Amino acid sequence: CGIVGVLGNHEAAPILVEALKRLEYRGYDSAGIATVNKGELRRRRAVGKLVNLSDLLVHEPLAGKAGIGHTRWATHGAPSVSNAHPHRAGAVAVVHNGIIENYKDLRAELLDCGLEFRTETDTETVALMAERYLQEGLSPADAAFKTLDQLEGAFALAFLFDGEEDLIIAARKGSPLAIGHGDGEMFVGSDAIALAPLTDRITYLEEGDRAVVTRAGAEIRNTRGELVNRETKTIQIDA
Ligand code: GLU
Repeated sequence: CGIVGVLGNHEAAPILVEALKRLEYRGYDSAGIATVNKGELRRRRAVGKLVNLSDLLVHEPLAGKAGIGHTRWATHGAPSVSNAHPHRAGAVAVVHNGIIENYKDLRAELLDCGLEFRTETDTETVALMAERYLQEGLSPADAAFKTLDQLEGAFALAFLFDGEEDLIIAARKGSPLAIGHGDGEMFVGSDAIALAPLTDRITYLEEGDRAVVTRAGAEIRNTRGELVNRETKTIQIDA
């Protein structure tokens, strides 16, 4: 399973699918991507091999230079299109590897507020929480941060927002996540291998880190919300 993200200068969909292919070695049962194009957030998902997602994208292309992608190894809910990531609630799309251990409690709170769930995943909770905070007037970054503050478990997450073509929020707790630095482009990936053809300049998030990623760079904060410096290394990978 894996996560990728791109804030680029070229069409994101083929870059995302290519990066997901480089994470195939981890295993997966379904895959999907979301992009923002002319302010509009859209997604495509398919069960089975990545070629199924590529075929879908031939018939139903997704334009846009900002996007996130995911290969899923189902832990909560069967492998199906509706359980495949990205998960969306309103203006928020989320990709997630790992498990949100306290999702039942979080889900119960959201149900109490009258929100509806459309999937069987632990991940949908994350999208619904962030969307709720957006509705309350928080900025996309603050909505993601406030959501992250409440999540328990081991996970890597990336958020993409409707109307935001230069923003990905990435977070790491227990599952590795790398930020890749390009020339006026930025990338997110489960590991440096995923990003190898795109850039060799990699910053690994540390435990509990969350990053506000824009084309200008990544602003990384620790769990206490303090700005932190994480080393950017040049990684040698035989692509
Ligand atoms: N727990 C999530 C799900 O079942 C993410 C699984 C994964 O790591 O791919 O959808």
